[in-house]
Amino acid sequence: MTTFDVINPATEEVVRSVPLATLEETDAAIARAAAALPAWRAVAPGDRARLLRRFAEAVDGAVEELAALEVLNAGHTIGNARWEAGNVRDVLHYYSAAPERLFGKQIPVPGGLNVTFHEPLGVVGVIVPWNFPMPIAVWGFAPALAAGNTVVLKPAELTPLTALRLASLALEAGLPPDVFQVVPGAGPVVGQRFVTHPDVRKVVFTGSTRVGKQIMAGCADQVKRVTLELGGKSANVVFADADLERAAATAPYGVFDNAGQDCCARSRILVQASVYDRFMELLEPAVKGVVVGAPGDEASEMGPLISAAHREKVASYVPSDAPVAFRGSAPSGAGFWFPPTVLAPVAPGDRAAVEEIFGPVVAVLPFTDEEDAVRLANDSAYGLSGSIWTRDVGRALRVSRAVEAGNLSVNSHSSVRYWTPFGGFKQSGLGRELGPDALDSFTETKNVFIAH
Ligand code: NAP
Ligand code: MG
Repeated sequence: MTTFDVINPATEEVVRSVPLATLEETDAAIARAAAALPAWRAVAPGDRARLLRRFAEAVDGAVEELAALEVLNAGHTIGNARWEAGNVRDVLHYYSAAPERLFGKQIPVPGGLNVTFHEPLGVVGVIVPWNFPMPIAVWGFAPALAAGNTVVLKPAELTPLTALRLASLALEAGLPPDVFQVVPGAGPVVGQRFVTHPDVRKVVFTGSTRVGKQIMAGCADQVKRVTLELGGKSANVVFADADLERAAATAPYGVFDNAGQDCCARSRILVQASVYDRFMELLEPAVKGVVVGAPGDEASEMGPLISAAHREKVASYVPSDAPVAFRGSAPSGAGFWFPPTVLAPVAPGDRAAVEEIFGPVVAVLPFTDEEDAVRLANDSAYGLSGSIWTRDVGRALRVSRAVEAGNLSVNSHSSVRYWTPFGGFKQSGLGRELGPDALDSFTETKNVFIAH
């Protein structure tokens, strides 16, 4: 049996060894999920709703346990980890309302009655990355289960612990066996099997754009449904008329949260040239004030990176001749630490301004006017998120409409609210998760005509 040693990224100690599923075990899990489907989709809507609410309550009772597990496995700060476990509860509650509200339409036609139904797809495969193991999992499995599908979920090899605990909480809450299975394993084995197995009718993938393209191409072979949430290089656009103090004080948290391992990280700060110097003056103490430390400490605002290999990748964006304007601090000794780092000035074509770094490194670029700001913000293959800082409501609206990104915030840095759709333009993804419409991507619309 192959196993994987899960490492605590803050101490480099082995937390636990987790068995990795083989191809045969993956096929067996998919077969069980397919066998569980007829009974699950036949559960009365009110009962399916009740089971999802019980699942949410079970998660609520385990928030501290799940959060502690994520601190240990992913190095997330305890504050973030509690929010993430709470997000699992909230998303389950939100979609528990769906089974009783999966309305179809009655459409006037000649000669009879025409109605539409939202049928489940079947077995849904969810592939999760290591950066937000709990939220990204639930954004897939909650609406999938609510719509009457069964789910097989592959966590990232590096971070399987909370997903495994969520699967056991589902059983404790009374979900029937095999309706929601977590299958830890390697991407090219378990994840790839979700793509090729004909009984898996949809793949929800979150991860790198590189692997996402392979998933999409692989799914084409069976015209398999696919939702992709991929990378980002989002812009934080600061206009001269903004509340500069607030913009500068919050900018570090817009990019360094979760040590920058966030697809929505505002990893390019675009600043209007007329206030550039003042903004940098204000940014420096804000960056140096970010509390980087042991993720279990209540005061910590940033923890370590996920792995030694990832730290190496991040460090490659800060070579010895990099234009480092200033940096925050990071603990020394064991752990995959990397200090918050501000690069400036950075030219638009530079690697640090183009590629997703996925670590606590931000590039600052000046712009001249509104048109220049929009052009620079859109000068990216990605289009996931972004922020706009201005006191001019008209400008906020114009720029919001002009920036090619799926999730924008004005005078704040929020991207994810479970009530509203989340997803990317361009190479940041395909489809939307969360919000009221996510159910549509976990169902097929069936149209039935009954002659008078
Ligand atoms: P990744 O290598 O693409 O992995 C993501 C998931 O896919 C993991 O579970 C991985 O398994 C699996 N996988 C790898 N190769 C596969 C294959 N050939 N077939 C099927 N599954 C496969 O990305 P990552 O290194 O985990 O995460 C970092 C990247 O994800 C960043 O670029 C980031 O922007 C992106 N991301 C985007 C979002 C978003 O919402 N848009 C959210 C989070 C992350 P293993 O664990 O075995 O590698
Ligand atoms: Mg990978």
